[in-house]
Amino acid sequence: MLDVKTMFFSMIATSIVLAASLIIALGNRLHDGLGKWALSLCLQGLMFGLLLARGHIPEFFSVVLPNALFMLGITLHASALLEFYGRRLSIWWHVIPTLVMLFCFSALINAFAARNIFHGIVYGSALMGLGVIANRLHDGDKQSARWLIAGGYLMTAIALYVRAIALLLNPTSYNNLFAPDILLNVGYFVGNSVILMTSVGFLVLHKDRAEQYAQRLAMTDPLTGTFNRRIFLELAEKEVARSRRSGTPLSIIMLDLDHFKIVNDEHGHLAGDAVLKQFAQIVLGCLRREDLLVRYGGEEFCVLLPDVEIDRAQGLAERIRHAVSKNSFNHPQSAGKTIRITVSCGVAGLAREEKRKDQHKAEQNLGQSRAKNKADTFEDAEAVLHLVGLADEMLYAAKTAGRNRVVAYPENSTFAMIKRTHMAAQRGAQNIQNAART
Ligand code: GH3
Ligand code: MG
Ligand code: MG
Repeated sequence: MLDVKTMFFSMIATSIVLAASLIIALGNRLHDGLGKWALSLCLQGLMFGLLLARGHIPEFFSVVLPNALFMLGITLHASALLEFYGRRLSIWWHVIPTLVMLFCFSALINAFAARNIFHGIVYGSALMGLGVIANRLHDGDKQSARWLIAGGYLMTAIALYVRAIALLLNPTSYNNLFAPDILLNVGYFVGNSVILMTSVGFLVLHKDRAEQYAQRLAMTDPLTGTFNRRIFLELAEKEVARSRRSGTPLSIIMLDLDHFKIVNDEHGHLAGDAVLKQFAQIVLGCLRREDLLVRYGGEEFCVLLPDVEIDRAQGLAERIRHAVSKNSFNHPQSAGKTIRITVSCGVAGLAREEKRKDQHKAEQNLGQSRAKNKADTFEDAEAVLHLVGLADEMLYAAKTAGRNRVVAYPENSTFAMIKRTHMAAQRGAQNIQNAART
């Protein structure tokens, strides 16, 4: 049997060291519930300290106060979790339960068994509630750390219920906090582990969120919030691979604002920035969830449209062009003056004969798939650049034709056929080289 007082010391040390580590490591970054979590750990340490002093200090401080602090610790955990997910818990959720517990434990101060049964039922239920909160709150992402926290609360709740039931069945089984009892021993052991489990879980929640944020930052353009070019090329390669495998269409629109230099010259760069932001919102408003808008550079944007034929892409580009030309752009410092702009668009699509479903199957049968996969990846990256290049050529054509218009790559023109034959020949030569190397 482990010595109960030693276990209490261990719990005080765990709580205080965890709280101090949080405060020292994070300092003024104790937001999103971390401050409340640290405070709750401090209160937990104080609670075990007061319990440990039982017999040496007045009973109000060693019985009533620590039990009320336990409730305050639970409500602070709830508040920390809610704060992490952007919700607030009113101060009364801390004050009222703590005062009620102060009153109840004062009333039960001389009844050891009744007090501990009450303690087990009330706190077991409160921790179950906390477990439900931890499990149900989320911000859409899969977070296994929530399970760690909810699991910790559930384990403590079970330990408290078991102790309450044992006392209900045999109220005289033990009559003091430090009795060498197996149930108490297991309960305190669980308590110590849970302090660590829940705190690690809460920190991992924060770490996951910070990682997601960093990932988003690395993927997006800070001015317009659209994807940046690096992630676009990565995603476009995947989409092209999927499209070529399944034979589904895919299109690209390149957009470039007309005479944007004049906007900057006449209204200033800040106004230009505001126009770029509003322009991105207009384009996003015309797109589906699965379409991808990227700021390709400066005032040039690109839209990737999976499963969209070039004709439909051309229609969409027309809608965007129309929406932009009809919009009055504004800027906070332009004193009510509005800015009108137009956009030119170049559209290109993945040619239908570039599907390689059947070809792929045949090669897998011949056991050549690994060497071919390498060549495919190369081809996909090439195809993206080729598609972007075509859309860019069409954009150039739109500019030279007078701007504020959409030009699509004419898939069935002689020019297009010559270009595709040339590409196919290049690919054939590349495949022969790859095969020779492997
Ligand atoms: P065109 O119709 O031929 O596209 O003419 P243009 O003036 O739009 O093209 P040009 O490439 O000559 O100029 C692009 C301008 O876009 C110049 C540059 O200052 C401006 N620009 C690029 N990025 C930003 C930005 O982030 N903010 C602002 N305000 N302007 C930008
Ligand atoms: Mg331009
Ligand atoms: Mg440009």
